[in-house]
Amino acid sequence: MIQGTTKLLGVIGDPIQHSLSPVMHNAAIAHLAVDYVYLPFPVKGEALLATLDGFRAIGLVGFNVTIPHKQAIFPLLTEISPLAQALGAVNTVWQTDQGWAGTNTDVAGFLAPLRKFDWTGPGKSAVILGNGGASRAVVAGCAMLGISQIHVVGRSWEKLTIFQRSWQQLKKLENPEPVSFNPVIPQIHLWEALPPLIEQTDLLVNTTPVGMSPEVGRSPLEPALIRHLAPKTIVYDLIYTPRPTRLLQMAQAQGAIPIDGLEMLVQQGAAALELWLGQSAPIEIMAQALLQKLER
Ligand code: NAP
Repeated sequence: MIQGTTKLLGVIGDPIQHSLSPVMHNAAIAHLAVDYVYLPFPVKGEALLATLDGFRAIGLVGFNVTIPHKQAIFPLLTEISPLAQALGAVNTVWQTDQGWAGTNTDVAGFLAPLRKFDWTGPGKSAVILGNGGASRAVVAGCAMLGISQIHVVGRSWEKLTIFQRSWQQLKKLENPEPVSFNPVIPQIHLWEALPPLIEQTDLLVNTTPVGMSPEVGRSPLEPALIRHLAPKTIVYDLIYTPRPTRLLQMAQAQGAIPIDGLEMLVQQGAAALELWLGQSAPIEIMAQALLQKLER
């Protein structure tokens, strides 16, 4: 029930009407019976500063940040976690005595499903398809797992080079995980170089939107390439609709272990909620709320 004491959380972006975050967070808030509400705020770039000032004036506790503000918000924050700095993107903000602090929970979200496997990084190899925003969180996650060989595959050599250079500039990435972190500079490749990489990889991650609803018949990898996967390779598709994607269907038929993007989505939200509330988030409730929304 929204009442006089209810505290505010939310998400800013443009556009924001398709965001799944309000459904997921309000389901968690109802389940925990805490006095909060989570609202979507459509915010244009030029209104970012005024929005943060307004949020501070009304005592909003914290908020998520989505496209196009994940980088633009940096100069407005008084504290930015080393992880968010390394990724060049903030997705979670909370109010402090000094101003606003920001971090990024996508890496925690990405890593959560991988922790269920008896699987450690040293000596392992990962192939990451795509070099956009989500790919950065995946590279950081793979580095935190201690994966020795991280291969990033893209379609523009220029973009790949910029992507690789950004990691070279990184002196140190603070590691919130209980494993040692060795900064690994990802190796970069064009799609033509994939066949030998696929054969040797232990983890394949799709961070491109290829195969996402409504283009559910598409896959970033041809069936002939998928046949090169070794049995028990983990194939992780960040796409959460459809579940499974064509890529995951084909990979599973080949003996690979599929992971879809739903748990990452839930876990990045859960990590944010835990920061704001200081208590554990109900993962299952959040996942169910998302599934109901996606199936509608
Ligand atoms: P992004 O920044 O736009 O990056 C997309 C990447 O995919 C770019 O490298 C792009 O290549 C590449 N790409 C796009 N179309 C392609 C095609 N037809 N063939 C080959 N490569 C293609 O997007 P993002 O934010 O990283 O998101 C990517 C995907 O991850 C989306 O499907 C999104 O829903 C999903 N995602 C899921 C979660 C989750 O929690 N599960 C979180 C974040 C993202 P160019 O650079 O050459 O254009």
